[in-house]
Amino acid sequence: MNEHDSERIAGLLESDGMTRAEDDADADVVVLNTCCIRENADNKLYGTLGHLKTWKDAKDGRRIVVGGCLSQKDKDIVQTRAPWVDVVMGTHNVHRTNELLAYAAEHGPITEILEEAVMDDHALFPSALPARRETSYNAWVTIQIGCDNTCAYCIVPSVRGKEISRPFTDIVSEVASLAAQGITEVTLLGQNVNSYGRDLSLAARRDGADVSASPQFAQLLREVGAVEGIRRVRYTSPHPKDMRIDVLEAMAQTAAVCEQLHYPLQSGSDRVLSLMHRGYTADRYLERLAEARRLMPDIAVTSDIIVGFPGETEADFVRTMEVAAEADFDSVFEFIFSPREGTEAALMVEKFCDPAEVGDRFDRLRVVVERSALRKHRERIGRIEEVVVDGPSKQDPRIMSGRTRQFKLVHFTVPQPLRPGTYCSVEIEDAAAHYLKGHLVEVLHEATHKIRIPLASA
Ligand code: SAH
Ligand code: SF4
Repeated sequence: MNEHDSERIAGLLESDGMTRAEDDADADVVVLNTCCIRENADNKLYGTLGHLKTWKDAKDGRRIVVGGCLSQKDKDIVQTRAPWVDVVMGTHNVHRTNELLAYAAEHGPITEILEEAVMDDHALFPSALPARRETSYNAWVTIQIGCDNTCAYCIVPSVRGKEISRPFTDIVSEVASLAAQGITEVTLLGQNVNSYGRDLSLAARRDGADVSASPQFAQLLREVGAVEGIRRVRYTSPHPKDMRIDVLEAMAQTAAVCEQLHYPLQSGSDRVLSLMHRGYTADRYLERLAEARRLMPDIAVTSDIIVGFPGETEADFVRTMEVAAEADFDSVFEFIFSPREGTEAALMVEKFCDPAEVGDRFDRLRVVVERSALRKHRERIGRIEEVVVDGPSKQDPRIMSGRTRQFKLVHFTVPQPLRPGTYCSVEIEDAAAHYLKGHLVEVLHEATHKIRIPLASA
């Protein structure tokens, strides 16, 4: 979500006549788009701002902007701790970047934090703003902002506001216009995508309109998948408590929707899940997962797991390892619990786990996950996979890297380089826990997007 907001900020700056600088030395403006989901992001911001003071003092006219969740949380504190910052803006006023920069140039430092999203389409959905996309063959599309859940550890609801679904037709028409530019892959974004549309149905009911005409996430998947030119649809993140069979059926029945599911478990212990207010049990989670695999046998499943939630006992953690082993994940983002001010879990201080114990659990869980990841990757050896080229591999420019429909990273040999966005088939020859290796079999579909030609500076 933050990366997508960054694309929007970059797009706005470009629409105001700026161009991308290769490094800080060439830049007139530096924007830090922050995240506050875990504590180390806080520490990083103020450290980086310290370095940027030297950068700013070295040349007249240099300006610093701080945006994102951390400024939404810290508000005036950012400029109190770093008075050399020119603009501090929150999560609800990305669209104001250029105006705020212009204001700061004339009048000096400004902090503008809106407590709620403004009911104006541009302000509400960053997707409606111009973007400076990092790639020209895939794109993120925001379908929902905010979150109405109350997970005990999570700061997102307080910095991203209440859940608001973007109108269905806006989403579909944005995807159609992306497809017209040659984009073939979209990722639908929201904090809780499978409750998409719930607020729209409630509003329809309030207005006395036909509620059955108010589409939900499953219909959105089908409709986005039917847009001509769109070959791959992904989404993140669904909430297990709201995962309904109609969404799994829509995935299975819509050819463009990829066989990939990011399905955040958080904990395998029912006791901890209840303390977290997650609204499901491990059994229910596993049942839905089995259903997903029944409908899509080749689906790759990834997850988020928090280690060391306050009060997590060894028995709770063992249960997490058991459930993770049973879930047979392709990969897991493991997070050490980080107390976030204002959340319920941050108040459970006397229940905080011993950091050494948490570190040990973190490593033990990684062993479990890497075991299933490696086995699943090895099962792919000898298969022919559809891969979309990302670009040359970082390790060896003669090798290309790309992603399969399951979002597996593949490094593969080619007789000559392929353009990013090219669809090809690749035979898998080797596997590690985090990537696959192979060789090109054939090109299936040439990249069709327009190439971005950098503007030469005078
Ligand atoms: N809305 C998404 C999650 C967004 S945050 C969902 O519910 O799946 C991404 C991940 O960060 C979460 O899934 C969780 O595992 C992790 N996370 C959030 N708050 C955290 C905290 N205080 N400490 C550690 N990890 C946290
Ligand atoms: Fe945070 Fe829970 Fe909302 Fe995800 S669903 S953003 S974890 S409160």
